[in-house]
Parts: sequence; C-alpha cells; structure tokens
Amino acid sequence: MNLFIPLTAALTAASLLFAQPAGPSSAADATGQATSAETQATAAQQPNDYDTQRDLYDKLSLVTQIPWHWIAAVDQYERSMSKVKPKAHPKLGHTVGVYIDQERWVGPLNPNSEDRSPLSIRWFNGMGRDGDGNGEVERTNDFDLLFSLVSEAASYGTTDDDFSIGLWEYYQNSRAVQRIQQFSRIYETYGKLDLFEHAFPVPLGTNYAYRDTWGAGRGWGGRRSHEGTDIFAPHGVPVRSTCYGIVEVKGWNKFGGWRIGIRDLNNHYHYYAHLSGFDKSVNIGDVIKPGQVVGWVGSSGYGKPGTQGKFPPHLHYGVYSDRGLMEWAFDPYPLLRRWEQAERTRKRAN
Ligand SMILES: [Zn+2]
Repeated sequence: MNLFIPLTAALTAASLLFAQPAGPSSAADATGQATSAETQATAAQQPNDYDTQRDLYDKLSLVTQIPWHWIAAVDQYERSMSKVKPKAHPKLGHTVGVYIDQERWVGPLNPNSEDRSPLSIRWFNGMGRDGDGNGEVERTNDFDLLFSLVSEAASYGTTDDDFSIGLWEYYQNSRAVQRIQQFSRIYETYGKLDLFEHAFPVPLGTNYAYRDTWGAGRGWGGRRSHEGTDIFAPHGVPVRSTCYGIVEVKGWNKFGGWRIGIRDLNNHYHYYAHLSGFDKSVNIGDVIKPGQVVGWVGSSGYGKPGTQGKFPPHLHYGVYSDRGLMEWAFDPYPLLRRWEQAERTRKRAN
C-alpha cells in the first residue's frame, strides 16, 4: 500500500545508488528563519546547490521511476512552504525542503517517536523510508526525506495522472497539487533548476516612472488598499514577465481589466493589470521566461469587459506569496528596484 515497488528492490537499488549524503549546509538553509516576504523572494540559491539537488533528483528518479522534474517540483513546493511557515513547516534536511511530521514519519501508533528502524516503521505504517540504504530511517537525511515523500505519492503509479492522484492523497489540498504540477512543467520545459533570474516588467530605456505606493489609500483603478506598485508608462509599452514561470490566469477582471497572472518557482504569483492587450502567443498553462513580452501597458478596467480610459495608462504590478491555503500580497517595490538595477548592470556588461 505504501510502497509502489517491492521494499527489497528499493533497498537494493538505493544501496547501490546512494553514496554518503552530500552537500554542506548552504546559504539556502539560513532562509528557513526568514519571516519577511521580501527576504523569501530574494533568497537566492547557490549554483552548487543546484548541482547537489539535481544529482539527488536524478538518483531518486532512477529508483522511483518518477521523472526528475516531478521530484524537483515536490521538493521546491516543500521548500516554498518552509520559507513561508518556518515554524509549522521547518526545514529538516540540508538541501531538500521536505517536512514530514514525526507522527506521520514513524507511524501514528508507534510508541517510539524516535524510531529509526525501517521494519518497525513499516510495521506501524509510518511514512519514513530508508532512501540511502544505510539501514536507518533518518528524518534529517535528504535522501530519506525526499524518497519517503515521493514513494508515498507514487503509490498510485508512476504516470503523470497517477502521481497527481498520489499527491492529492498526500496533501489533501488541490492547490498544492496544482503548484507541483506547475513547477514540474517549468522544470521540464527548461531542463534545469537554475530558474530564478528576474527582469524589470517594462523595457529599460522606455519612458516609465514608479514610486512606492504600497498600502496607499487607493491606487489608480485598483482596490481599496493598494496591493502593488503602479508603473506609469505610455499606452502600448511592452509588459514583460519578471520571472521564469507559468501563466495561471489570463482575461478580464472588473478592477484589473485585462490582466495576466504568472506563478514562479518561489510560489509567488505575479499579477499584471490594466493591460491594453495580450501577446497572442501567451496562453494559460504556457511556460515563460523573464523579459518575455506578455502584453502592453493600457488603462483597462474598472467596469465591464473592454472598459478603458478611466485613469492614466499604467501597469499595476502585484506579487502574492502562496502560504498553502491562502495568498498574501507583499510590497514588490524593493524587488522592482533591485531587478531594474540588476538588468542595468547586465546591459552594461554586454
Ligand atoms: Zn495599481
């Protein structure tokens, strides 16, 4: 029931594949303590982390038959939860973000909450598995943690649909499943983990202006409390994705007008509103990259579909952090300043 491949086969394969857990504690570890959304958003992972992580995902993929991009997506979703809920969802391993609570790990009726025996944990129907084949089920071991979660989700089978069902059974939360599916698509499309570069939402060198309007009584054509930054620019200036991500929402909204929403791998939802139109090649479910044009600055919104001109043309840009069951907006202004500066530096270097 809990194992989708015979235990003996899994252990043998694991023993052959897994060497000692690699990777020193990294910069990403420090972000487990992060509390402000802005810190989360900027917690860059180091390139050597990506190599360590990719190596782990490839090994786990061989043992579990689950494609690496699914495994990477599960780990990244878990990592995003550790960043927004460091107390309820603490980081247990070194590079992986997986959190599994103690009771679920050893089995609910297991009298030994510190149990490390694979046989005993299995007996008590715990989730913990000995992924690296060292004979111990360790809740702080990257391989054991991720192998246990992926094995659990793979108990319905290894096709995309089967794995999605397994994820639903595990999380009992359709948002979590949707996020992991989205992350998996992004990883699969680019074939790598290093997908955290950003771009400024309008081209540098165009005639734009913005300031920190967070929480202002009312933004232009916006909501009561202004959750975002207004970037003023002439009608028709290109609007570009700030991140690698996947298009989650596209269409008309009474307040936002023509708007598009893009989910990134930090589990942030980037919202671009009041557009004059969309790039025809960009549709819901499409994977996109930073700097890619998604539409054009306009003044749409605040009325029935097609309404425009009720306020000066501008891009309303908002960022929301997914906290598992709800989303919180945070001030994108400091990020915009940073991305603008970074892009300027890149431009100069080229
Ligand atoms: Zn606005």
